[in-house]
Amino acid sequence: MDRPASEPGFTGRPYNRVMDEYLPGPLARVVERADRVATSTIGPDAERVDREALWPEHGLRALAAEGLGGLTVPAHLGGLGHGLLGLAVVTETLGRACASTAMCYGMHCVGAAVIAAKATPLHQERYLRPIARGEHLTTLALSESGTGAHFFLPQTRMDRDGDAFVLQGQKQFVTNGGHADSYVVSTCAAEDAIGGEFSCLVVDNDTPAVQWGQPWQGLGMRGNSSRSMLLDGAHVPAAHLLGEEGDQVWYVFEVVAPYFLTAMAGTYLGVAATALEQVMQHMRERRHAHSGQTLADVDVLQHRVGQLWMKLEKSRLLLRHAAQLGDMGAATALTAILACKADAGETAVAVTNEAMTLGGGMAYRENSTLARCLRDARAAHVMSPTTDLLTTWTGRNALGLALF
Ligand SMILES: Cc1cc2nc3c(=O)[nH]c(=O)nc-3n(C[C@H](O)[C@H](O)[C@H](O)COP(=O)(O)OP(=O)(O)OC[C@H]3O[C@@H](n4cnc5c(N)ncnc54)[C@H](O)[C@@H]3O)c2cc1C
Repeated sequence: MDRPASEPGFTGRPYNRVMDEYLPGPLARVVERADRVATSTIGPDAERVDREALWPEHGLRALAAEGLGGLTVPAHLGGLGHGLLGLAVVTETLGRACASTAMCYGMHCVGAAVIAAKATPLHQERYLRPIARGEHLTTLALSESGTGAHFFLPQTRMDRDGDAFVLQGQKQFVTNGGHADSYVVSTCAAEDAIGGEFSCLVVDNDTPAVQWGQPWQGLGMRGNSSRSMLLDGAHVPAAHLLGEEGDQVWYVFEVVAPYFLTAMAGTYLGVAATALEQVMQHMRERRHAHSGQTLADVDVLQHRVGQLWMKLEKSRLLLRHAAQLGDMGAATALTAILACKADAGETAVAVTNEAMTLGGGMAYRENSTLARCLRDARAAHVMSPTTDLLTTWTGRNALGLALF
């Protein structure tokens, strides 16, 4: 089969910044910086990151060098001081180039926001200022095999021992696992049963009695290094506790969930945007010998592209709407925030799947960019909070019921 020069996966496209005309000036400039790194470093590395399941150190270092490590760190601590909208648009920009890098960076930003929410002077000096200087990478270690998708129900226990807490438990799928400088770990106090209140602590990478599981070999998101983390009697200074013991219902709804959901939704929309751009490029250039028409000339295919474009644009609008409501502290924000990640996941899977069909055999060949996008997008439905849980919670919240 002849391969046109534009075969999906063969050529990159400049990353279009659709809808960025609406962004406030300072944020538009941050997006330009992210776009520069995405184009110069992250995009060119993406195929290798995926093929070799390589943690994207090169791209993450480039983002830090560009001054983007402290995206969600308050300005008075040297950060850029952006909130949910900033996280949404930057992760989308990065997700267009490489979903794994966007997710690793996104989890770092979520971790930073969680640390910043009630930071003590120690947290500020030890974590937030170094993060803002691009010298420290953090991440979230919440979910566990016992409670699976219910990431807010940790079974990892913490016992007080003088000036320290002793942690016993195991986290599954820790993005940036084994590479980050610190981990925001959720635990419950030893006397609490499942469903009891829990707490978050920052665990440093060199803490004794922390062990890492096998390297991550996923279907997609292959650069994530989403490894299991065994905490086998790990002693963590009591001063590393975030907020008060049992503060976490506040943390989950005010910080963890909004930032986590926004970072993931942005990443998946970036994946969908690249899939659509790639396949449209292919359709413009793939010409049949018998008709002289390109795929883009065929009515029914134009119609299908139109449907994908509408789906993507609606999801992007919902995400940015939700993020802005969250940044404003609006009472109605939670429903939109819960919905935006479920919706972005549906869109990413639908768009990448359909783009694969529109790209024909060219797209289906092993390891085309569209194939990578499809595999990366599939993580959206299983990463907590999962699409099923979020869709139910959106309904419950809209009905005025407790989420769970
Ligand atoms: C690539 C990747 C990166 C990750 N990174 C991180 C990370 O950085 N930090 C972190 O803490 N975790 C991370 N996770 C873990 C993730 O957030 C989920 O906790 C994990 O994927 C859940 O997997 P499970 O097999 O335990 O799901 P299960 O709990 O077994 O669920 C399986 C399916 O059943 C559905 N389900 C389960 N219970 C219900 C219910 N009551 N109602 C409706 N549906 C239900 C779920 O929605 C899901 O679709 C990552 C996971 C992946 C795949």
